Amino acid sequence: MKVRLNFISPFVVGGIKLVSNYIESIDYIPGNVIRAALARYILNNCHYYDPDEVVTIDGIQKKNWVYFKDKPRCSDCKLQTLCQKLGDIRISFFYPKDTMVIPSTLMMCKMDPHHGFVDRLIQQPRCAKCEGGRGRVEFVSGLLKDGKKYNVVKSFVTRTAINRYTGTAKDGSLYSLLAVSATLQDQNTGYEENVFEGQILGLTPQELSIIDELRIGKYTSVGLGRCNVTVMDEKMDTPDVSKVIQSLKEFDAQYKRNNGINDDGCRYFAIKFISDAKLDFGFADVNEYMSTDQYKAVWLKALGINLDVQVEKVYAEVFNFRGYDTSKVGEDKREQPVHMVEKGSVIVFKTHLAFDKVIDYFGSLEGFGQDTDNGFGKFDYHFGGVC
Ligand SMILES: [Zn+2]
Ligand SMILES: [Zn+2]
Repeated sequence: MKVRLNFISPFVVGGIKLVSNYIESIDYIPGNVIRAALARYILNNCHYYDPDEVVTIDGIQKKNWVYFKDKPRCSDCKLQTLCQKLGDIRISFFYPKDTMVIPSTLMMCKMDPHHGFVDRLIQQPRCAKCEGGRGRVEFVSGLLKDGKKYNVVKSFVTRTAINRYTGTAKDGSLYSLLAVSATLQDQNTGYEENVFEGQILGLTPQELSIIDELRIGKYTSVGLGRCNVTVMDEKMDTPDVSKVIQSLKEFDAQYKRNNGINDDGCRYFAIKFISDAKLDFGFADVNEYMSTDQYKAVWLKALGINLDVQVEKVYAEVFNFRGYDTSKVGEDKREQPVHMVEKGSVIVFKTHLAFDKVIDYFGSLEGFGQDTDNGFGKFDYHFGGVC
C-alpha cells in the first residue's frame, strides 16, 4: 500500500558529516529508518519492554529488539499484529511527494536549466535549444519534480534550539544540524508542507492506522522527525505488460539509432535503480583496473542475474559503505562493509531474448542485492529521458 508521512517537525536522516562542525540530513528515507521508527514505537508502548534485555539474532547480540513475547498482556495489546509482523513487512525508500530519482544518463544544459534534459543513451550530448543547437551539457543527479531538478528545503535548527539539539562530537566540539524542513514552500502564501511518500507491504491499513505519531530519524528525543502516517491507497498498480513491451521496443530502436547499431538479432534495454543498492562485488575496489569484458561480467555476477543477458553499459556511482547497527551490543556497532550503488544508476543490457521473456524474469525480482525488504536495490525499466 502507498503510505504518506506528513512531518510536523524537521527531520535528520543519515547524517553526512560534511565538515566537523555540522551534520546534514539526506533528502530521502531508506526503509530501515522507517522500520527502526516502528520498532521504537512498539517498544515505547510495550508492557514488557526491558532496555537491558539482550537477544541473540543470527549469532549477534542485540538490544532493543522487537519480537512477540506472547505474555498475558500481549493478547489485548493494540499493537499485537504490528509487533508480530514487523520482521516480515517490506518497506520501500520514501521520497518527497511527487518526485522521482534522476537517472544517471540524464544531462542538463550548462547555460540554461530551462532548456531541459538530454538522455545520453538515446541522444547526442548537446543542448539543441541553445543557439546553434550545440550547447554544452553536464550530468545531473538528485531528484526531479514536474520535469525539473528538485531540492527539498533544509534549515538549520534555530539558534535557541541548537543548544537543545546539538550533540557533542568526540573531541568535545559542538555541531549543528541541517534538517529537512519542507518539501514544498509557497513564497506568496507562506504555505509549507513536508510530505514524503513510499510503500509498505505486509500490513493492513488498519494495522498501520493504530500509530498516531511516528518519530523518524535522529534526535527524536528532542522533538525532531515527528510525523503522521496515512495510508493513501491500499492496492498497488500493476503495469500493463503490452505497454511495457511497446516502451522497451521504442527504447531499443532509439538506442540503436543513437549508437549506430545495425543488428536486428539483438535487443537493448535499460534499468535504473530507484533506490540505493547494496551489491557484493566480491572484492574491495570496484574501480580498480580491469578490462571492459571483466567489468561487465563482474556487474552481471554482482546483480545475480540468471538470464541470458549481457551487461552492455554501466552508468553507476559506487562507493564503499559501512553502516551502523545501533541495536548491536558491544563496542563495534559497525556492519559488514558493502558496496553501495547509488540510486539513479543505470545499466544497459543486451540480449537475444524476446522482451516478454525479459519482463517475466525481471518482474519476478524483488530487487537487486541485499536488504531488499528495506527497499534497497529497487529498479524500474529506463526508457530514456524523463519518464
Ligand atoms: Zn541549452
Ligand atoms: Zn546480437
